[in-house]
Amino acid sequence: MIVILLGPPGVGKGTQGKLLCEAEGLEHLSTGDLLRAARREGTELGLQAQAYMDRGELVPDDVIVGMVREKLRKLGPDAGVVFDGFPRTVPQAEALARTLEDLGTRLDRVVVMTADDGVLVRRLSGRRSCPACGMVYNVYTSPPEQEGICGECGSELVHRKDDDPATVQNRLDVYRQQTAPLIEFYERQPAVPVVEVDGAQKVEDVQTALRSAMREAR
Ligand code: AMP
Repeated sequence: MIVILLGPPGVGKGTQGKLLCEAEGLEHLSTGDLLRAARREGTELGLQAQAYMDRGELVPDDVIVGMVREKLRKLGPDAGVVFDGFPRTVPQAEALARTLEDLGTRLDRVVVMTADDGVLVRRLSGRRSCPACGMVYNVYTSPPEQEGICGECGSELVHRKDDDPATVQNRLDVYRQQTAPLIEFYERQPAVPVVEVDGAQKVEDVQTALRSAMREAR
C-alpha cells in the first residue's frame, strides 16, 4: 500500500500519518522529519535545507527527490509507505511516479486533507514539538502533562521556528501556489483514487475518516 497524504501545513498529516502507520503496519515517510533529522545531525543535506525551511520555502526538488529515493531504496520494494509532506510540487510527483515504476510498485491512493486557514493557523501557533523523539503536542488541544516537557522522552519541547506567524503565512501561500495544483494532477490520473478527508475534526474522528477513506475504492 503506497499512500500520499496531501494537505496544507497544520492539517494533521504528521499526527494522522503516524497513527495510520501504527495501525496498518506501514512506514511513515515524512520529508519534513527527514530534513529536521539531517539538520540535527549537521549533515550536508541538513545545511543545504536549513535556510529554505526557516523561511517557510520549499527545499529544491533535486535535493528532496534524492533523499526520498534513498529512503525508498533502504525500505525495499515490498514496504507499504505513507508519504507525508511529499510530493509538494508537480516535478516531485513526476519523479515519484518514475521511482515507483523502477521499484515495480505503484501509488494506491491520494488522501487530500482539508481545513480552514483559521484552524491551521491556530494549530501551528499552538504546536510544540519534541526535537529528540519527534512527538507533537498542542498547547490548546493536546498539551503535554508537564508544561514544556515531552511526556515520551522528557526532553524540552520547542516551538518550531517555521511555526511563527509570519512564516506560517508564507507556508500557506507556498502550499496554495506550488502544492495544491497536485490535487488536479492526481485527479487527472484515473488509476489513482483521490479521496478527501475533513482534517478539522478531532484527532480520533479524522483517523476514523482516514481509515474508511483507505478502504473506499480499494
Ligand atoms: P513539514 O514538516 O512537512 O511542514 O516541512 C517543513 C519544511 O521542510 C517545509 O516548509 C519545507 O521547507 C521543507 N520540506 C519538507 N518537505 C518538503 C518537500 N517535499 N519539498 C520541499 N521542501 C520540503
